[in-house]
Amino acid sequence: MLEGRHTVIATGAKPQTLNILGEQYFTTSDQFLELDSLPRQIIFVGGGYISFELAHVSRRAHAEVAVLHRADRPLEKFDPDLVEQLVERTRQLGVDIQLRTEVKGIERRGDHFIVCASSRGQKHEFQADMIVHGAGRIADLDDLNLSVAGVEAGKLGVRVNEYLQSVSNPAMYAAGDAADSGLPKLTAVAEYEGGIVAANLINGNHKKLEHVAVPTVAFTVPPLASVGLSESTAKEQGLRYRVHWEKTGDWYSSRRVAEDCSGFKVLIEEDGRILGAHVLGPEADELINIFAFAIQSGVSADTLKQILFAYPTHASDVASML
Ligand SMILES: Cc1cc2nc3c(=O)[nH]c(=O)nc-3n(C[C@H](O)[C@H](O)[C@H](O)COP(=O)(O)OP(=O)(O)OC[C@H]3O[C@@H](n4cnc5c(N)ncnc54)[C@H](O)[C@@H]3O)c2cc1C
Repeated sequence: MLEGRHTVIATGAKPQTLNILGEQYFTTSDQFLELDSLPRQIIFVGGGYISFELAHVSRRAHAEVAVLHRADRPLEKFDPDLVEQLVERTRQLGVDIQLRTEVKGIERRGDHFIVCASSRGQKHEFQADMIVHGAGRIADLDDLNLSVAGVEAGKLGVRVNEYLQSVSNPAMYAAGDAADSGLPKLTAVAEYEGGIVAANLINGNHKKLEHVAVPTVAFTVPPLASVGLSESTAKEQGLRYRVHWEKTGDWYSSRRVAEDCSGFKVLIEEDGRILGAHVLGPEADELINIFAFAIQSGVSADTLKQILFAYPTHASDVASML
């Protein structure tokens, strides 16, 4: 047994239990990434970024791939118009994307699996050699018996204050996917939160969670990236802004690499502040960092427009996106 004045909970996340029959037949994303060879037919349950990324890789490696998603739109945290473009490209690639399809159970039949699902009131069956869980992750806290220590926690993690200290037991801190901090569950966020916790443990509570612009990327081909406010959040907040949205498949930067699945949407407030940026296409995963920098440091659209980016890099498109 180890004793300490403080404990930091940083146990990460795990796939959430769906409470369906045959749950034990799921392959997790961790297990998928350890495979030595790819099965012929694969079904991804859930239409988030994990399923889309692994579906793109699998399809390009010639597997037959389906994604079953229960809502109208997959990749719900990304811009709907850009998602529509990416869904179209993903279907062209040969991935069978079934929307409004809720998985109810998995059965083993011989050496393959049957996924039982319901779609628009009808029952459907899908067959595959492997069923991958991409249907959401929750904080990995079950083994810790936190209630004994009076640590309040839910699916999103340990409930923490702005110092990342447990709201119910001041001896406990949490960071990363195991902390309910309100920030997205991503590697850069886990590192940022780890730094805050370390500073507060060493010098007492003085470092607070700040409002940070967190870029996020679905590493499909091409990638889809996002930072800052979505159009729907900006609307809900009653902000006054303009939207610059374009498909850019005919721009030089897309044609040069023969990738016509590309576009962007940038939200700019009336005073010139960039509220959010959403980019689909080649190098979107790099381009989004420029917008993250601008949003985080308050660089206005007008200032960003004046920066001379090297031509013909993808960054040299930024001025045309504002
Ligand atoms: C398939 C997949 C793809 C992802 N892609 C991206 C991406 O492209 N970009 C991005 O930013 N994020 C991505 N993420 C999310 C990212 O991995 C997490 O946000 C990040 O790892 C969180 O860091 P963490 O330190 O909180 O937890 P983790 O990295 O999960 O580390 C937690 C560690 O604690 C260990 N642990 C758990 N329980 C116990 C226990 N009881 N005792 C001791 N040890 C324990 C775990 O085994 C694990 O090693 C992805 C996640 C998945 C699943």
